[in-house]
Amino acid sequence: MTDNYVILKTFTNVFEADLAKGLLEENGIRVELKNEIFNSIYSTFAGDMFKIELWVAQDEAEDARRIVDAYTEGFVVNSLLTEAGALLEGHFVLTSGRHSGRYIEKIRILQNPASAAILCRHLAEQLSAYDFDAVVGPAYGGIALAFEVARLMGKQFIFTQRKDEQMTIRSGFDLQNIRSVAVIEDIVTTGGSIKEVVVCLNEKGIEVAAIGAIVDRSGGNVDFGCTFIPLLTLDVPSWDADSCELCRNGVPITKPGSSDKK
Ligand SMILES: [Zn+2]
Repeated sequence: MTDNYVILKTFTNVFEADLAKGLLEENGIRVELKNEIFNSIYSTFAGDMFKIELWVAQDEAEDARRIVDAYTEGFVVNSLLTEAGALLEGHFVLTSGRHSGRYIEKIRILQNPASAAILCRHLAEQLSAYDFDAVVGPAYGGIALAFEVARLMGKQFIFTQRKDEQMTIRSGFDLQNIRSVAVIEDIVTTGGSIKEVVVCLNEKGIEVAAIGAIVDRSGGNVDFGCTFIPLLTLDVPSWDADSCELCRNGVPITKPGSSDKK
């Protein structure tokens, strides 16, 4: 590495470091990563010992700073989800029967725990401004995410499930010291399940301090009556089969495996 490079930023995670490097290179910035190999070899304790350093040419550091600052959380989340194969582009028949050019295979968010954990860290950072005793996830998608967010924040964890069509807190949890919670969901579409979760918590005298989600695919149209923090807001347009432009243009269609209803 040449002498006239400066450290722009450090990372504890190789995915985010690579994303930033790629972004800067696309913008013509000369960039080097240091400690990348140590970090991946010793990943279990790499965090503090081998922070990945992002070095840039000194005379380009100001531009690089501006680009990295503009590299929003949305960009990171979008890249992680796309890499995981959770955000698919093409031509799909949705469960509703409508056609769309985008499809979210949400179970893939959990398939790679390392990248799911990064998403949970972003949620935990956002939720740190709120005061609550426990993190709640609705079965199944919300369970692993809520557990990881609770672990990161040193909070308790509980989950809800549908029992005889009715949303309930899983029996057996000790709710005595739980007065308020944060609710975590993977994908919010209409917000229906979350609203049921809020009702079943309120019935037990538990307040909801905030709701977090990986993706709000309602395009920002849901209202839970409390703070809602989605990491990524997507507007997913869909059409009736007979007015679908993709059909008209002869784009081959995929029908994703019918999703397991929770
Ligand atoms: Zn179509």
